[in-house]
Amino acid sequence: MSPAIPDPATHDPAIPDKDAGAVEDQPITFRSDVTVELVRASAQDADVIFAARVSTAGEQSLADVNADATASAGLINFLMRERHGSPFEHTSMTFFVHAPLFVWREHMRHRIASYNEESGRYRELRPIFYVPNADRNVIQVGKAGAYEFLPGSPEQYALIDASMRESCADAYRRYQQMLQAGIAREVARMVLPVSIFSGAYVTLNARSMMNFLSLRRRVPDSHFPSYPQREIEMVAERYEEEWARLMPITHAAFVANGRVAP
Ligand SMILES: Cc1cc2nc3c(=O)[nH]c(=O)nc-3n(C[C@H](O)[C@H](O)[C@H](O)COP(=O)(O)OP(=O)(O)OC[C@H]3O[C@@H](n4cnc5c(N)ncnc54)[C@H](O)[C@@H]3O)c2cc1C
Repeated sequence: MSPAIPDPATHDPAIPDKDAGAVEDQPITFRSDVTVELVRASAQDADVIFAARVSTAGEQSLADVNADATASAGLINFLMRERHGSPFEHTSMTFFVHAPLFVWREHMRHRIASYNEESGRYRELRPIFYVPNADRNVIQVGKAGAYEFLPGSPEQYALIDASMRESCADAYRRYQQMLQAGIAREVARMVLPVSIFSGAYVTLNARSMMNFLSLRRRVPDSHFPSYPQREIEMVAERYEEEWARLMPITHAAFVANGRVAP
């Protein structure tokens, strides 16, 4: 049975409450992680099999709807290798994601997905901001398209931390001031930085999942290595964990074929 759909406003423990009322005096929360939760899924390896078999078996492919896909790993691998992508589309995974706006800007470039996001016009935005911790590499070297990121010095991390905390707190204070002065949420929010968190539901099928993972995870031995920003990669890592659990044979074929989206 599918788990109940969480309320995006209350699901994350970092989000204090769900009503659209004032949140003045609420402490500012800084996070260095993202939330990715699988809400609902209709996605299994057998879904690929019956969809693919209709081309040769016609209505007899109905017998494969709940078939054990282990015996058909070769077919899944063939579809992946030859880039016959459409059988992978007969699946659906819905995630609740709570991530900073700069991650959403990148995420929503992936058009083959469905999105519903909380509104900064209809509700007051919560004071939750992203700040990188010392595990995150912050020094960029190399050339565009293949940057390498290295750890910073203690002083550089301290500067990042202090600058972000101070400027986010100041921006949120000004946001509150404007709201209290009667200025509309859609105007007051213009002062807030892209590190503020936002929650949304994302629904993908296995084919669009593979496209996302091929671009948003850095895996050096993949056929087309990509160099995503670390924070969207954190979302991708969680997606991949969930997807691999749901569709282990398809996931294994994706990896074996160089992580190329079919
Ligand atoms: C490391 C990295 C750096 C990036 N840097 C930039 C940047 O500097 N600036 C920038 O603007 N973007 C940048 N992007 C975003 C990138 O260009 C894509 O928009 C994003 O990765 C979504 O990929 P997509 O179009 O394949 O995904 P989706 O939109 O989900 O599309 C999936 C697939 O559907 C097909 N498709 C979808 N829409 C169309 C269409 N209109 N016409 C034809 N085929 C379509 C394509 O085959 C596509 O691969 C970057 C991405 C990465 C991973």
